[in-house]
Amino acid sequence: MTETTETKIDRKARLKIPFQPVPKQDPKERVKNWDEVYLGYDLATAKLEATRCIQCPAAPCIKACPLDNDIPGALLKLEEGDVLGAAEVFRSTNPAPDMCGRLCPQEALCEGDCVVGKVAIPVAIGKLEAFIADQQQAMGGRPIPQLPPPTGRRVAIVGSGPAGLAVAEQLALLGHGVKLFEAWPRPGGVLRYGIPGFKMDKRHIDDQVDYLHQLGVQFVFNVRVGYDVTIDELFDQGFDAVFLGQGAGQGNRLNVPGQDLEGIYMATEFLVRANLPPEELPNHLRKPIETGKRVVVIGGGDTAMDCVRSALRTGAGEVVCAYRRTEAEMGGRQEERQHAHEEGVLFHYLTIPIRFVAGDNDCVQAVRFQRAELGEPDESGRRKPVPVIGSEFELEADTVVIAIGYKVEKLLFQTTPDLEASDGGAVATDESGQSSRSGVFAAGDSVRGADLVVTALADAKRAAAAIDRYLRQMKSAAA
Ligand code: SF4
Repeated sequence: MTETTETKIDRKARLKIPFQPVPKQDPKERVKNWDEVYLGYDLATAKLEATRCIQCPAAPCIKACPLDNDIPGALLKLEEGDVLGAAEVFRSTNPAPDMCGRLCPQEALCEGDCVVGKVAIPVAIGKLEAFIADQQQAMGGRPIPQLPPPTGRRVAIVGSGPAGLAVAEQLALLGHGVKLFEAWPRPGGVLRYGIPGFKMDKRHIDDQVDYLHQLGVQFVFNVRVGYDVTIDELFDQGFDAVFLGQGAGQGNRLNVPGQDLEGIYMATEFLVRANLPPEELPNHLRKPIETGKRVVVIGGGDTAMDCVRSALRTGAGEVVCAYRRTEAEMGGRQEERQHAHEEGVLFHYLTIPIRFVAGDNDCVQAVRFQRAELGEPDESGRRKPVPVIGSEFELEADTVVIAIGYKVEKLLFQTTPDLEASDGGAVATDESGQSSRSGVFAAGDSVRGADLVVTALADAKRAAAAIDRYLRQMKSAAA
């Protein structure tokens, strides 16, 4: 910030500006559609909310953002009416500000450290970031930069989720040839196949893919690397490096009796069949789900909230979230839980599923639970649910969804010699994203296990820089 700007800031006056909430769809209306909950700011309200930023020199929000976004710099530009300038500030560090503005848990990141938040509601950084990125898109989108001459090097990217898309962009901008291999029929990975439209409209994925096409990035779909083609075969085809951005897409099973009954779904299958049109799904998942009247979702994180809210939108009459601890130990965003409450989801805390009960034709009819009380903290730091003897009860269910977390699939380790896994079963890498195999890099959920979009983007930027160094060393070694 310049001295002139600094002298113009009247922090006391700024602190008196009331918080400007973003209008939302009414809960009764929004459960009838899949549109985003938030209707978005208008320009005047967004500028006013940006003016609540007191432009404090320490800017702890920047340090709290995994991408080091210059938040005060962008908000000052918005306040001055320079929306495109604000977008450029965000885009200089964030490959997907429209997505992060919608999906980051801001209360635990930038907004959690906002100085205004010590005396009032923090500045709505995420909503403003999304507004700025949306405005840029509405004004014609990002300019396509002049690309450097092609380096002649080619990189195969496994998975087109947030990490894969970000690595593709960074490498294409550096002149490398990039081809993305996606197992699903459409691009986006978890962004399309995991996150429902009421949290983020899928046009944001399409915008990013269009931009990458203009940078010369190629996409192939319905190809599962490790099964349809191995990593060694990709090198044989002439790729110089491989980036693993397949994510952590394998749902954890509950392993209680009756889990294979009809009407019991893992979260991903339920979400994609409920959320997406059949043409965006592989043949075996194209039949829409009929949830019946009562749906029970087991789990307490953001995916469980996505499932309960999707179940409401499929027309289920009663949707229950069953969680083995209390709301205080739930892992996901408070905002998502609030939206689920507003929409009419019922929460049963301190309930441990112990078996599924069959009705006619091997269809699930009920879930048998045991009540729990909280004991000592476990390795996660949260108090452990301890079963209460003699407290069993049943909840009737026509559909059950299991949403108790994800892990990295084993397939790539089984088909890639010398690719090492971490203790948690993810891809083992050094800090730059280099795996145990020369020329094979990884970042995001493939390395961390299921985590945030913003951390995947931050890791992906580091991995792209490491891949670029690797490719350039190859070039000089060959010279
Ligand atoms: Fe906040 Fe996420 Fe944007 Fe960073 S990327 S400023 S954490 S919303």
